[in-house]
Amino acid sequence: MNIVRKPEWLQKKINPAAHAEMEGLLGELRLHTVCQEARCPNISECFRQRQATFLILGALCTRRCSFCNVTKRSPVPPDTGEPARVAAAVARLALSHVVITSPTRDDLADGGAAHYAATVAAIRGAAPATTIELLIPDFQGSRTALATVVASGPAIVGHNLETVPRLYQIRSGADYHRSLAVLETLRELAPSLRTKSGVMLGLGETEEELFAVLDDLRRVDCSYLSLGQYLAPSRAHHPVIEYLPPETFDRYREQALAMGFAHVESGPYVRSSYHAARYGE
Ligand code: SF4
Ligand code: SF4
Repeated sequence: MNIVRKPEWLQKKINPAAHAEMEGLLGELRLHTVCQEARCPNISECFRQRQATFLILGALCTRRCSFCNVTKRSPVPPDTGEPARVAAAVARLALSHVVITSPTRDDLADGGAAHYAATVAAIRGAAPATTIELLIPDFQGSRTALATVVASGPAIVGHNLETVPRLYQIRSGADYHRSLAVLETLRELAPSLRTKSGVMLGLGETEEELFAVLDDLRRVDCSYLSLGQYLAPSRAHHPVIEYLPPETFDRYREQALAMGFAHVESGPYVRSSYHAARYGE
């Protein structure tokens, strides 16, 4: 298989010294972040700006997506003290906006929905001014689980489609139409909720396939969109098929805005939680 070389616009440097303080706090409070687990290339920039995406419900996933660096094995039971520790971190970092996500917990009866709701409640108590965004798994399509999450009152709830339907074998255990239905159900449950989704590019999708996905997202009235370049965490993960140039991301942003998304972040380094505070500005 040909390895596609990384282009010059994707040479962001990680500077560990820039995040020592943040890592100290995360270690002290025994918290996980996607920033660390997913080896996000934006980690130095985000940690320097005191932005992080907290990974609740442990750092072990029950699914086996071939693009993801989260460790895949049997997870441990939810840590009931975790919501309060996340809330303490949000308060100590004085975050104006926080993103909370989790691995997929197919082993739990509610998929972890109650733990999400407890985390939202704890943050609201410790840092009432912080806006809360949840990036949720599909909860196997459970309307009850989605209702639990929505009832906790987050400002934004996202669920990523990740890629086009033809490539869904990379999302082991997921189903494109079920993920779309998650966003549709969120809208039904809370008509004024801001919903959000993200798609990674460079996995082999065509432009036509991408825009069919964006059409589907608008059909379920998804408010916000993120488009970013897929970067393989290692050679053992799904390979990058194509590096899209920044101009293509710019064009996609304009086209997506014209389709009716209220805010679009699109660029090689965009991740669903990148510049998260800008959505809804
Ligand atoms: Fe963390 Fe998101 Fe920033 Fe990446 S883009 S470092 S996951 S907050
Ligand atoms: Fe990673 Fe989410 Fe897939 Fe689990 S379900 S392997 S956390 S992308």
